[in-house]
Amino acid sequence: MLKIENYINGELCEPLSNLYLDNFDPSTGEVYSLIPDSSGDDVNLAVEAAKKAFPGWSKKSAEQRHDYLIKIAALIERDLDSLAEVESVDNGKPKTLAKAVDIPRAVSNFKFYATAAMHTATEAHETVGQAINYTLRQPLGVVGCISPWNLPLYLFTWKIAPALAAGCCVVAKPSEITPMTAYLLSKLCIEAGLPAGVLNIIHGLGAKAGNAIVAHKDVKAISFTGGTKTGQDIARIAAPMFKKLSLELGGKNPNIIFADCDYEETLKTTVLSSFSNQGQICLCGSRIFVERPLYERFKTDFIEKVSQLKIGDPLISQTNIGAVVSKQHLEKVLSYIDLAKEEGGKILLGGKAVKLGDRCANGWFIEPTIIENLAHDCRTNQEEIFGAVVTITPFDAEKEVLNYANSVEYGLSATVWTENLSRAHRIAERLESGIIWVNSWLLRDLRTPFGGMKQSGVGREGGFEALRFFTEEKNVCIKINYGG
Ligand code: NAD
Repeated sequence: MLKIENYINGELCEPLSNLYLDNFDPSTGEVYSLIPDSSGDDVNLAVEAAKKAFPGWSKKSAEQRHDYLIKIAALIERDLDSLAEVESVDNGKPKTLAKAVDIPRAVSNFKFYATAAMHTATEAHETVGQAINYTLRQPLGVVGCISPWNLPLYLFTWKIAPALAAGCCVVAKPSEITPMTAYLLSKLCIEAGLPAGVLNIIHGLGAKAGNAIVAHKDVKAISFTGGTKTGQDIARIAAPMFKKLSLELGGKNPNIIFADCDYEETLKTTVLSSFSNQGQICLCGSRIFVERPLYERFKTDFIEKVSQLKIGDPLISQTNIGAVVSKQHLEKVLSYIDLAKEEGGKILLGGKAVKLGDRCANGWFIEPTIIENLAHDCRTNQEEIFGAVVTITPFDAEKEVLNYANSVEYGLSATVWTENLSRAHRIAERLESGIIWVNSWLLRDLRTPFGGMKQSGVGREGGFEALRFFTEEKNVCIKINYGG
């Protein structure tokens, strides 16, 4: 059976303990590879390698760093098809989705930050008649990047690329549930000739390997994407050490549909924003609020469209809904459907696990599920499910729906559908979310600030925000002597 290896100091290696974890294919329910169960000892080696590489990497010109990152982007692009297949097997997502979204986005992440590194500038402040101040933005040193399982290579590279572009050296850990494309990335970095120790990839459990990265005294910053509870655990360890933290956490995003929306576009996009990647995207809109005059029509058409989605083998191109990432996650999602019923919810569609035939007979699949008749403040409408489960609720007034939307502890993203421009601006201004899409969903421009408010996190990724995160500002004040 294939054994994934760590990537430390430019080489692939076994964990020091020689202990391994099982890696499952969610579409078959079977173990298909083994993951290093790395410990603090492996992390120590990785940090030492990164420290050793830092002086050389941080002193390279922006153009030299650009060249390495562009080379890695080109290699990912070359392997688009095989990486998409691997991502699909590891995560359960349809291969078509991985090929259209996940892997191309990993390419874009490297391209974007490769070029961004060459377009940075710093400020100067003239203290008239007395001094010139200029700001240096210097790479932090060794940083930790920790990512989740839902968009494995996409989010892993979204952290690594800006860190490397900024001149930092990285110790990174992908999710132990979806480690395979990160492993293949380490091979591509070797092929690209990335200097030893600049990027180190450690595999293993969050509470063990992840924790060791966060707690290491020489890791200056942690860029983390994952659950809110994990974010709290990380902050508890990192805050007393005054580490810089970027935490991209959970969400419970509202999708607000006004009666004056572009109906066909709203309907089509709401199917995607509800169920893409089996609803396992932090930006999925899981609470759909529809203005009452449109409610019954939307409900009927939405059920009809969602019922046409094909649940199936993720490797088949006709499949819209693949497997849920793990057995444990499948059970969590099903438990929320039971909770919704207990809370008085009416299941309009779905609600059950699905048994497929052939090679997927023991895989983990759930029907896309639509629930109505739930109060906005019940647990089903307040807690993150992170699966193919949405609730649908009518509303009468703008103020009322804003209250529903903002009633959760999360504040990641929101979607608003209306042709009324003034209303769109007004609602966007009042929604408590870091990212707001009007008449669209997941339309991404990598230059924009990305992140959440409230329990959805601290800090912003994207654009120059991420490059700044991985640097320390230093003000240099030079007194000017105008005499003589
Ligand atoms: P998770 O928090 O369980 O794990 C995320 C990563 O953190 C994994 O690599 C894990 O091994 C590691 N980890 C776990 N415990 C740790 C610890 N104590 N110290 C250090 N590292 C630790 O999250 P998950 O289940 O993999 O992902 C799903 C969650 O991620 C959802 O809540 C989802 O909303 C969120 N998410 C957020 C965004 C965003 O941009 N805001 C994007 C994607 C996913």
